[in-house]
Amino acid sequence: TKFVPRTPITKWFPRHMFKGMLQIQSRLANVDCVLEVHDARIPYTGRSSHFHQSLISIRPHVLILNKCDLIDDNQAKAIKRQLSRTTKHIIFTDCKGGRNCRQILPTILKLMLASDRFKRSDASDIRLMCIGIPNVGKSTVINKLRQLHSDKSIHNKKPAIVGPTAGVTRNVMEKIKICSNPLVYLLDTPGILEPKNVSQDDIMKMALCSTQSDQYIGIQNIADYLLYWLNKHKHFSYVELFNLKKPYDNIDELLIEIALASDYYAKFKTPSGKTGLRPDLLQATENFINSFRTGKLGKFVLDEDFLEEKYRENVQ
Ligand code: GDP
Repeated sequence: TKFVPRTPITKWFPRHMFKGMLQIQSRLANVDCVLEVHDARIPYTGRSSHFHQSLISIRPHVLILNKCDLIDDNQAKAIKRQLSRTTKHIIFTDCKGGRNCRQILPTILKLMLASDRFKRSDASDIRLMCIGIPNVGKSTVINKLRQLHSDKSIHNKKPAIVGPTAGVTRNVMEKIKICSNPLVYLLDTPGILEPKNVSQDDIMKMALCSTQSDQYIGIQNIADYLLYWLNKHKHFSYVELFNLKKPYDNIDELLIEIALASDYYAKFKTPSGKTGLRPDLLQATENFINSFRTGKLGKFVLDEDFLEEKYRENVQ
């Protein structure tokens, strides 16, 4: 069965993303390596194929699948085995906990030393750009790299922001020095991508991962999709987590049961002016969605259908 949202999903990405795309294109000429950051729970969904074909392919590229704390190691392995047929350099990171973040810079340096640009040119400094859709952790990755590698004496005072300076044209990008030897800069502002060719299912998966603003999609739609996805993939951990007796097909029934089982009540006024209590469905909705977003519900790869059978063992 297909997921049918109750209220139409229309305005789902902010206008500034179009501008973001143009900015990325104009900056790419000055960049040696692209760090594409994405959410490990959706290794396929939301990554723009158009962007890949036209842009990434002309620059060395490292794919950072961030938030790997929200998936398990077997899932990561399966994703890596399948994706590595098309993407050579993939690193799973948890930039909040710091896991694997130390692999990023050495991977880039290895790639750079082998690149044509590096062999041909005298310019030995390396310029990186971080790109991705909103909320996948681009800023967190940038901060982590700064924290790990930047020259402490500079970093402790102020981040090493270079340009625009007097006499330098305005469209020179702000750069952060993240390594002195070899000299590596990272463009200060991450490139925000507009995902292309997305289906309704894709939009809902991205919404679950907070890469879409909740208010555009509606938390009722998001909770509804979460239940649809969990049931479709036979993940019934919500039954135990929320002390329920059985799985539910209907989101309204589920939310009432979650509210009752968790003692979420909201006050309301009766027509006669008295105050009553009713199940707090808003709190139930938020907690249900957050149980996924924080990993309490379990570790799920929303794109598990994209994994071929041979890579799927141990994923569920
Ligand atoms: P950006 O919009 O791509 O720059 O994303 P941010 O860096 O602002 O991060 C978006 C949210 O994801 C923030 O709430 C971060 O704390 C969170 N976040 C970033 N990296 C990780 C991670 O590795 N694991 C988890 N669980 N959360 C992360």
